[in-house]
Amino acid sequence: MKATKKMSLAMQIFIALILAIIAGLLMGNHADFANSYIKPFGTIFLNLIKFIVCPIVLFSIMCGIISMRDIKKVGSIGLKTVVYYLCTTAFAIVIGLAGGNLFKGMFPVIATTDLTYEASEATSFMDTIVNIFPSNFLSPIVNANMLQIIVMAILLGFAIILVGEKNKQVVSAFNDLNDIFMKCMEMILKLSPIGVFCLLCPVIASNGAAIIGSLAMVLLTAYICYFVHALVVYSITVKSLGGMNPVTFFKGMMPAIMFAFSSASSVGTLPLNLNCTEKLGADREVASFVLPLGATINMDGTAIYQGVCAIFIAACYGINLTLPQMMTIILTATLASIGTAGVPGAGMVMLAMVLTSVGLPVDGIALVAGVDRIFDMGRTTVNITGDACCSIIVSNLERKRTAR
Ligand code: ASP
Repeated sequence: MKATKKMSLAMQIFIALILAIIAGLLMGNHADFANSYIKPFGTIFLNLIKFIVCPIVLFSIMCGIISMRDIKKVGSIGLKTVVYYLCTTAFAIVIGLAGGNLFKGMFPVIATTDLTYEASEATSFMDTIVNIFPSNFLSPIVNANMLQIIVMAILLGFAIILVGEKNKQVVSAFNDLNDIFMKCMEMILKLSPIGVFCLLCPVIASNGAAIIGSLAMVLLTAYICYFVHALVVYSITVKSLGGMNPVTFFKGMMPAIMFAFSSASSVGTLPLNLNCTEKLGADREVASFVLPLGATINMDGTAIYQGVCAIFIAACYGINLTLPQMMTIILTATLASIGTAGVPGAGMVMLAMVLTSVGLPVDGIALVAGVDRIFDMGRTTVNITGDACCSIIVSNLERKRTAR
């Protein structure tokens, strides 16, 4: 009974995705209609997801930590997670830079004389670090600042473990709250097929022509790199470290993958990702810690996009990036991915930081801004797949460690 239910949601999302593409292409000349009357329903759906995501991150990380009952265990999971995230992200940029260089000859050279791009205040690396720590108990939730919510959850989780037996009631109250928010999320997720349709259709209607337009080669390069990274890095690591057949992994991840592709939001996909990875066998305590963290700091797809775009923008300005410059990009893009929020368009803002680090004009972002959403759909898909892969791997490694 359960299996048919699961299949049906995945199938519904898939059908919605296909219908959105067909409807979007048919509506090519009426993009205004799609944007005025279809997109708002997508926005309502995203709003509901945003509404639920803060309590989900707070309670799932906190309850995940409490259920481990041991600060050392949290440390061990945290370390494995962060090492996996940083290594795969650095690898992703290398793939992005390699792909960019390989296909550079086929990139269009667009005149850069009239370009302007208003970069929002670039956050320096040190600012990013400082901003992780909340100065107010409520503001992280009010402003939906995920990194600060994670710090809060870790602090509270540790404190609850340290207070020990005395606080049984608090623990059970938090677990109950966690269950309630999860139920709420399940209810919202039932609407995902409608959400997927209403989010994707306007994007296709407004960008359909642009896809086949001048940036097709750059988009194609990014998508080839997304595929290579997902197929090579995730297949190999999920098999060797996670002990799972990659086909089973990708199959089980399909609902989350389709949702990420349509919504372009890692944070928005978090509830569905938790669902998929648990069904795939990730431990709840691990997934509820690893996934919210990943949705906030692990952005492999974004890193690939930044590598490809840096090469493309440099080429348009007639600049050839040197090896040291590429090394700098690897470093800054890895750090930038930590500061990138898991919401649509965030990666493009962080591209400014990457370009600046190697002296490329930030105005160049204007070259890719028009089709950012198309880049974003692919990079978000890679981002959440990387998070899921990590939760399977860490679950497996922890199981082995405790079995020893
Ligand atoms: N939209 C991406 C995400 O949610 C972030 C980005 O813009 O690169 O993962």
